[in-house]
Amino acid sequence: MPDTPVNGSQVLVLNCGSSSLKFALINSRNGDASLSGLGDALGQSAPSVSWKIAGEKHNATLSEGAKHTEVIEFVVTNILSGQGSLLKQIAAIGHRVVHGGEKFSHSVRINDQVISAIQDCVALAPLHNPAHLQGIEAATKAFPGVPQVAVFDTAFHQTMPRHAYIYALPYTLYEEHGIRRYGMHGTSHRFVSERAALLLGKPTDDVNIISAHLGNGASIAAIQAGKSVDTSMGLTPLEGLVMGTRCGDIDPGILLHLGVRLDYCMKEINDLLNKKSGLLGISQLSNDCRALEQAATEGHQGAQLALEIFCYRLAKYIASYHGVLSQVDALVFTGGIGENSAFIRENVLNRLSGLGYQVCESSNLGMRFGAEGAIESSSSQAPTPKVLVIPTNEEWVIARDAAEIIGKDGSPASAQPQGGT
Ligand code: ADP
Repeated sequence: MPDTPVNGSQVLVLNCGSSSLKFALINSRNGDASLSGLGDALGQSAPSVSWKIAGEKHNATLSEGAKHTEVIEFVVTNILSGQGSLLKQIAAIGHRVVHGGEKFSHSVRINDQVISAIQDCVALAPLHNPAHLQGIEAATKAFPGVPQVAVFDTAFHQTMPRHAYIYALPYTLYEEHGIRRYGMHGTSHRFVSERAALLLGKPTDDVNIISAHLGNGASIAAIQAGKSVDTSMGLTPLEGLVMGTRCGDIDPGILLHLGVRLDYCMKEINDLLNKKSGLLGISQLSNDCRALEQAATEGHQGAQLALEIFCYRLAKYIASYHGVLSQVDALVFTGGIGENSAFIRENVLNRLSGLGYQVCESSNLGMRFGAEGAIESSSSQAPTPKVLVIPTNEEWVIARDAAEIIGKDGSPASAQPQGGT
């Protein structure tokens, strides 16, 4: 069993994006964050760092062009060194890593082989994996001797059967270039499915869940006996549901049409599909669900249409996952939209009344701002899946995995940051 101390280990969780770095100091036992913050606009002209500690918010500017290394140095020197006891308590560093390809079905302690395997997956996540590698390098310098753990977004979906992850393309593309469905948001889908099992009073490996993670990026997973058996994101995070600025599923012939008939170059196609589509593209107004809901109530037709399509496509996926799973114990909504938007949840569930879903209006309206619980109507005659709203907590999963792995490795270490007190 893991050797996590009774009071939990303090794990510094790092989530390095191409121009941002989210950091948090998390108690592995209860998920409490004693520090959380964001380095933003990294590598650009005016990078900044903002953070919250002991309930107080702070911010600072960094020098022009500062990147992940400078943010981590800032965290050690300017934030943590003023909090001596916090610094000494750091037992591990947990990194969110977007793509682990087929190499990682679990979180792992970082060593040279793991670093080179993350490097091998750069082609599959060209924006994210290089940033993670920079974060690992910077953390190694700033915290020599502190164990580091990689937690992969793709790992949870490695249990998908071949018929779910192989595309109907020449098989050699899979064999020679790894072109297959990998899925993302695995850490979130795993967290909410474990939490759902707890709420249902069943062991995790005894529940079938449909998990809808709806944020700026959105994906849905079919989870059978606690294991992912299908998910909507694919080789990249572009496939599947309608998202803030990403198109999700489209006819691949559209790409040929754009390139051949309309003379788009690859960069234009990339920008169009990733940055100008989804809720933003349809509404021509915003990628932000809250703003669209407001505009829709004021009669904005683009906003109304974007929200209709978002809900329709999501309902279609949920219905199809009823066909994937033999039986469904619960449908879970999570992510910024899933956790907060009563409108979206109601619209989606109303479309699924044929499957027995009915929403309890008052429970649905009350479920936001971190609330957790059920929203299905108890008046339903037939036994139908429970509908749960569960705030996701990927940082806690990363902290838990890191604490468990360093416990297993038998080497929980205290932080000895360079320049620290
Ligand atoms: P990310 O994928 O960037 O982590 P989030 O999970 O924070 O995104 O989700 C952001 C989305 O959640 C935005 O579209 C935002 O409008 C939406 N959202 C947040 N609060 C609400 C709310 N009260 N009602 C509707 N949508 C909301």
